[in-house]
Amino acid sequence: MDLQGIQGLYAAPHIVFSCLLGACLGSFLNVVAHRTVINKPWWGSERSVCESCGHMLAFHELIPICSWIVQRGRCLKCKAPVSPRYIVVELTGAFIGGVLAWRWGMTFGYLFSMICAFGFLLSALTDYESQDVFDIFAFSMGAVGIALRLFGGRDAVIDGLLGAMSGWGVFALIIVVSRGGMGWGDACLMGGAGALLGWKLTLLAFYLGCFVGGAGVLYLLWRGKIKWGRRDAMPFVPHLAVGALLAMTVGPRILYFIGVRLSAYPIYPGWPF
Ligand SMILES: [Zn+2]
Repeated sequence: MDLQGIQGLYAAPHIVFSCLLGACLGSFLNVVAHRTVINKPWWGSERSVCESCGHMLAFHELIPICSWIVQRGRCLKCKAPVSPRYIVVELTGAFIGGVLAWRWGMTFGYLFSMICAFGFLLSALTDYESQDVFDIFAFSMGAVGIALRLFGGRDAVIDGLLGAMSGWGVFALIIVVSRGGMGWGDACLMGGAGALLGWKLTLLAFYLGCFVGGAGVLYLLWRGKIKWGRRDAMPFVPHLAVGALLAMTVGPRILYFIGVRLSAYPIYPGWPF
């Protein structure tokens, strides 16, 4: 059986596995984001507790998605409602994992897009919770991106470096022109993502992210949550994350449609259209 035959055979199990992996990653990154925001170490052995009664959560209370459904979103001990943030992020993680496995199959593209998407999810969570984007996560994405690209040869590394520069540069330009309309944290994050995405998908992700952000602003104006003329801080990373996810799924098609070819990029072998 040839490679495509094998990939076809494992496509469905891979999607299921990736959904489960995504739910677990979502659950884990929720904790990482929250502990980073409140400046607590997240790598230690400190166990998760109920935010209402302090009851230490057992293994069966920490199973992504399932525990929340079985417990109907409540703490087993004190019956206080658990924040919907947990189930929302876990379902989002499962969705991301499923879509990217469906889109990329078992390829290098899958690995790149998973790292990029969950890196964005982590920063979107910190940005949403505290309007902070932590450079350490952005630099980690960039370092992993360049390191993985070493397997793809010189052109792949150059594409990653150009991606990092264009992602950072487009934000730097906005910050300079608008005198601080956006944060340097956003710039670093887009730079890190650029090392994974390459420069073409990076610019497309930014462009799509602005569209999503614009739609978000219109929605908030319509709901009366923000007002015209006031400079309300709106977390931009969640919108950027949606833009990046779109770029990683339908991006190649959009680029193909406007005449941009990606086939010269060895790190993403065999773009499956
Ligand atoms: Zn409790």
